[in-house]
Amino acid sequence: MYDLIILGGGPAGLTATVYAIRKRLETLLITKDLGGKTNWHLELPDVDLHHVITGEEVVSRFRSQIDYLDFARVMDGAESVNAIEGGYTIKTKSGRTFETKAVIVATGARARRLGVPGERDFLMRGLCYSAVSYAPLFIDRQAAVVGDGDLALRGAAELAQIARHVYLVAPEKGQLESRLGQKLLQQPNVTLLQGYRVQEIKGDRYARSLIVQDGNESRELVVDAIFIELDLIPNSEIVAHLVELDSKGRIIVDSRNATNRPGLFAAGDVSSVHAEQVLIAVGEGAKAALSAYEYLLNI
Ligand SMILES: Cc1cc2nc3c(=O)[nH]c(=O)nc-3n(C[C@H](O)[C@H](O)[C@H](O)COP(=O)(O)OP(=O)(O)OC[C@H]3O[C@@H](n4cnc5c(N)ncnc54)[C@H](O)[C@@H]3O)c2cc1C
Repeated sequence: MYDLIILGGGPAGLTATVYAIRKRLETLLITKDLGGKTNWHLELPDVDLHHVITGEEVVSRFRSQIDYLDFARVMDGAESVNAIEGGYTIKTKSGRTFETKAVIVATGARARRLGVPGERDFLMRGLCYSAVSYAPLFIDRQAAVVGDGDLALRGAAELAQIARHVYLVAPEKGQLESRLGQKLLQQPNVTLLQGYRVQEIKGDRYARSLIVQDGNESRELVVDAIFIELDLIPNSEIVAHLVELDSKGRIIVDSRNATNRPGLFAAGDVSSVHAEQVLIAVGEGAKAALSAYEYLLNI
């Protein structure tokens, strides 16, 4: 039986794994990939990110350590987690079973896709799912944000601080009547296209425009980048029967990353902690490993 199994090898899971190995715990990382969403880089025409320190650089140090310590990882998807006497059993997609005294769930969250022509073709080439991560690059540029919930409004608000123009394509009323929504719509550089739906993304090497439609009326918006901000779906399904989730499906954790179930911890975007960012996930992963270590000392 392992001391600790970590599910997910993004910033949170990699950091947790490195900390747990350093504490000499019998540790196993089960993950579909190493690096998680830090493997995604938005390319924009005429933007040189050479001098920007990215979270990806920090994470790549942890990734190369785990890459080297291949006995501590299994490249597989976790399919189920169940409670057993003294711990948990984990089954993977390839049919392997592992037992452990404690678990850290760090499986991240996935963005809801639009499902229109062009979306896949331009993914991370002028089109992406995290406006807040790239808003600071938009001085004197034009962007479109698609969505009508908190994520979209927050992204559009950040972009509107510095961008020349922001189109907010809001399929429904969503959160537009919130304080942030109302404040945003008063900004002279924001155009709201309420009731419009995206039909297609067009471009060359990069996404350059989107076709939006409301009834019979169709418009082409020419922009420097498109941010799809419909929803973030936490990958919490495999422990949903074991732990408490919040209204968005995120695993509820306390300040020590503990869930309501002893020995089961969560970290990063899959958890209820505020803000989906690399360095926050790194810190949360470290904290979860230390909490799991303390838990193991006490059982
Ligand atoms: C397009 C985009 C750009 C971004 N840019 C930035 C940025 O510039 N700066 C910034 O700070 N943040 C950025 N973010 C946010 C940042 O990437 C995330 O907050 C961060 O990666 C979260 O780390 P995590 O470890 O919680 O999850 P993730 O990075 O999502 O990693 C989850 C891991 O779990 C694995 N996994 C999932 N399900 C299973 C399963 N069932 N079994 C096994 N493994 C599983 C995945 O393969 C992956 O390895 C961006 C996000 C997106 C979507």
